[in-house]
Amino acid sequence: MALDAIKKHSKVPAVVTFSIHRELVTREGWTAAETCRRLEAAGADVVGLNCHRGPRTMLPLLKEIRAAVKCDVAALPVPYRTTEEQPSFMSLTDPCCGDRRAFPVGLDPFVATRQEIFDFGREAYAMGIKYLGVCCGAGPQHIRALAESLGRRPEGSKYSVDMSKHAFFGTDQKIKTVQTEYQSRL
Ligand SMILES: [Zn+2]
Repeated sequence: MALDAIKKHSKVPAVVTFSIHRELVTREGWTAAETCRRLEAAGADVVGLNCHRGPRTMLPLLKEIRAAVKCDVAALPVPYRTTEEQPSFMSLTDPCCGDRRAFPVGLDPFVATRQEIFDFGREAYAMGIKYLGVCCGAGPQHIRALAESLGRRPEGSKYSVDMSKHAFFGTDQKIKTVQTEYQSRL
């Protein structure tokens, strides 16, 4: 229905993404790849997934989608450490607190690092997925890391970590050996 409306009223390319929850099928019973195939056949210019799954549990589905369609593919995971047992951020439970459901305001311990989002960007792009973003829960560090994973250097990159002058881990020649040698004891 959304695609029909876009085709009817918009002159810009139609990008249609949707979410896969715990189950590997939509509520219509279609796999992610099958849904994308249908969307492409119906005229979508870009198809793919957004939200609900973190990088780790979205990537396998993206691989199937990439193989199933010819058009561009979009991927916007949530920045959370979802697992095979709990593949969506709504299904995550926190073992620290009686396995309470973490969604929506207890997700802090599951937040992906910027490095994980960087790695996701590299992996997805290498797979041929070029429309990339981060969905609910994304912080500026995630968006910046994703841009940097594609070789870009946005203005915010001036705030990216620089450890060269760190007291123990720094590589600058001013950092004394007595400090760098202490690294293994930190
Ligand atoms: Zn979202």
